[in-house]
Amino acid sequence: LAEVLEHEQDLPSETPDGHAMPLMVNTGLAVDAVASLKSRIGGVGLYRTEVPFMIAERFPGEQEQTRLYREQLESFAPLPVVMRTLDIGGDKDLPYFPIEEANPFLGWRGIRVTLDHPEVLMVQLRAMLRASQGLDNLQILLPMITNVDEVDDALRLLDRARDELAEEGVVVPRPRVGVMIEVPATLYQLGPLAERVDFFSVGSNDLTQYLLAVDRNNPRVADLYDACHPAVLAALARLADEAAALGMPTSVCGELAGDPAGALLLMGMGFEALSMNAPSLPRVRAAIRRVSMADARALVAETLTLGSPAEVRSLLNRRLETWQ
Ligand code: PEP
Ligand code: MG
Repeated sequence: LAEVLEHEQDLPSETPDGHAMPLMVNTGLAVDAVASLKSRIGGVGLYRTEVPFMIAERFPGEQEQTRLYREQLESFAPLPVVMRTLDIGGDKDLPYFPIEEANPFLGWRGIRVTLDHPEVLMVQLRAMLRASQGLDNLQILLPMITNVDEVDDALRLLDRARDELAEEGVVVPRPRVGVMIEVPATLYQLGPLAERVDFFSVGSNDLTQYLLAVDRNNPRVADLYDACHPAVLAALARLADEAAALGMPTSVCGELAGDPAGALLLMGMGFEALSMNAPSLPRVRAAIRRVSMADARALVAETLTLGSPAEVRSLLNRRLETWQ
């Protein structure tokens, strides 16, 4: 099977009934390895900028960040690269910026940290914009958004960064900006968010954690952590419908997108693109090439009638077997 999958990697990510499902890749480090996949993907759906920050000894300066971001943008140009602003806190601590809290996942995380430290966000935004000069494939993604005010504040800083660079003679177009849908509150604010940004990207890892109130890294409750919980699937299906009604391009970049059964469900729900770690690409592509959009939609409908995660998993396993 591995051989078959490898041979299929240069074939389009398309269902037997002709529905194209763009696959993108999540990156953090080691751009070389992933850049070789360029001809097989639609771009980078999530570049986790905190990864290079985590292995540094201090906050990388503007020049250093510009170099890192330029490498990403150049390696994949003209394909889009979605760069997420620094998403630290929760389980991701920087050795040189310790955060100690009783409930880190409910605390100072993602955009909350960077809006409290605009000097950090400004350096990052300036470096991203500077790196994009002449390439035009940068997109910016805001993590852990809970309120629309946070989006407004971040957009104001982005405009300021662009103005500053223009004064220095570096003129770049305004990149497309998106928000992560990963805090459940955003599910109920899609309209106001859509007025402010260009796309949504679903962080199914955190969305699952927060919807189920289950720490994504706690082995004691690992059995309860399941993105295929009926409540999570119902939330995702509704989100896909509402985003489509709003005309918002919406993709998924959490682990569910890299799981073949999860990818089929997300496709059936109507999400426009799936972004995953590179090793997941072959199996997800193979699944999409074997299952029609009609069958994926039917699978979603059937799944949404089920009452427990175990029932969902067992249905998915049975279906996947028949589709091998
Ligand atoms: C997510 O939450 O699903 C996500 C993609 O972001 P991270 O895993 O980096 O929190
Ligand atoms: Mg997240």
